[in-house]
Amino acid sequence: MDKNMNYGDDYKMIPASSINSGQGIEVLPDLYCYTVQIVNIVLAGDPNTGDFVLIDAGMPESAEDIIGVVESRFGEGSKPKAIILTHGHFDHVGAIIELIERWQVPVYAHPAELPYLKGEMSYPEPDTTVEGGMVAKMSKLFPNEPVQLGENVHTLPEDGSVPHLPEFRWIHTPGHSPGHVSLFREKDGALIAGDAFVTVRQEYLYEVLTQEQEISGPPRYLTTDWVAAKQSVQTLQQLNPTVAITGHGVPMVGEALQNNLKMLADKFDDMAKPDYGKYVN
Ligand SMILES: [Zn+2]
Ligand SMILES: [Zn+2]
Repeated sequence: MDKNMNYGDDYKMIPASSINSGQGIEVLPDLYCYTVQIVNIVLAGDPNTGDFVLIDAGMPESAEDIIGVVESRFGEGSKPKAIILTHGHFDHVGAIIELIERWQVPVYAHPAELPYLKGEMSYPEPDTTVEGGMVAKMSKLFPNEPVQLGENVHTLPEDGSVPHLPEFRWIHTPGHSPGHVSLFREKDGALIAGDAFVTVRQEYLYEVLTQEQEISGPPRYLTTDWVAAKQSVQTLQQLNPTVAITGHGVPMVGEALQNNLKMLADKFDDMAKPDYGKYVN
């Protein structure tokens, strides 16, 4: 393990939560979605075999919570084979250093996301002026400086395979961030979408608190490339997923998912792209 790791200088606990915080849902027998305050992590793997992977690493200071969830599902002392990151925003890498130190497992991400995971480049400042509600306005609190994971972070295999998840492949879904990826399993249409699209209007505090289910484009205050974001939603829609676990909001399945995702792909500019904001146009 490379011990040379640190969070950005603006790293801090964010006091925002939802009614689903601390709750888990077994979406499929081998896919478990757990909510850390306002973001989801996924445990992918069958509890009967004990082999599993963690997808994303929660909010700042949530390591104890995540370790507790892992051990209650897979047994005391259990650890994942690897951590796969959909992207490197603070709410997806919040506990990653403590988790690497504890488990000593490799982390994988898209090559275009590595500068933000190796302390080389900050994400753009969150856009507090973007069209949207209270969460957009408070997004100036959100850390945007990169984590430094050193040699612990590796690039995902070029052939699209996902380490330790042989049935899944990763799909580059940029727009929300340059190296954003989603994971898809052909045989049952299971999609782990990250923030390519979400099922809660993440800019609006009331909806985040109550987790009111509504398909939505990527969280606006951190999305910088709306052309790529639209293309990514269309790519995912064409896969015809039957189950989607998104980075924020309650998992969406079946017809509701298919109809809503089709609508989002068709009407992306109306539904997802903000009318105004720093990164629009
Ligand atoms: Zn994000
Ligand atoms: Zn997020």
